[in-house]
Amino acid sequence: MSVLLYENSDLEAFREINSSLAGLDSLDILRWAFQTYGDELVYACSFGAESMVLIDLISKVKPDAQILFLDTDFHFIETYQLIEEVKKKYPQLRIDLEKPGLTPKQQAELHGDKLWKTNPDLCCKIRKLDPLEGQLNQKKAWISGLRREQSPTRANTQFVNQDHRFESVKICPLIHWKEDEIWMYIKLHKLPYNKLHDQNYPSIGCTHCTKQVADGQDSRSGRWANTDKTECGLHQ
Ligand code: SF4
Repeated sequence: MSVLLYENSDLEAFREINSSLAGLDSLDILRWAFQTYGDELVYACSFGAESMVLIDLISKVKPDAQILFLDTDFHFIETYQLIEEVKKKYPQLRIDLEKPGLTPKQQAELHGDKLWKTNPDLCCKIRKLDPLEGQLNQKKAWISGLRREQSPTRANTQFVNQDHRFESVKICPLIHWKEDEIWMYIKLHKLPYNKLHDQNYPSIGCTHCTKQVADGQDSRSGRWANTDKTECGLHQ
């Protein structure tokens, strides 16, 4: 199958690709993705529960794959500890921590204290979107752990997606996975995971914008709680 480039691809091309991949499992999707894009493919990893499954699957397909973590400077200590655990378990993987162009101090000087409260979209742009854009400009495609059941905005996600935001191709091998299947895989394979998941943090981002959720609440309700914001803008 030929390399799929964003610039010369239309909706029909994506439909055809997804139709040809329908019925494949996540490992086969990853095999196709690395065969198609090789080193031009990067996994933008949040180190959430889905990430643990994806990292394990990716390590079986391409042990030296590049994994990118957007290090906003505002992550929980448990997240940084998990990254160190993953580095030890998968020493061949190339795990890069990508920093924003502004330190927290520079951001406060330019935009005021607590930008995550006064203008969270700008904060996410500075600390997540711009750094990811800088990396994706050098690549042809990226992998994401989106699952369809996570939210209505993710319900129509395909294995291979046109990514207008970054003018790239976004590959989502886990679209059909349910949350209990993610956890079954993690437990079965004794994978490391963020210890905050055991304390009612189903979805973990920056400390300023992540809260515990009550039992039975939507898994992403702890992100930007009490605001209209539901996504950082990476997935549009
Ligand atoms: S999640 Fe919150 S703290 Fe993190 S970059 Fe976005 S607005 Fe800023």
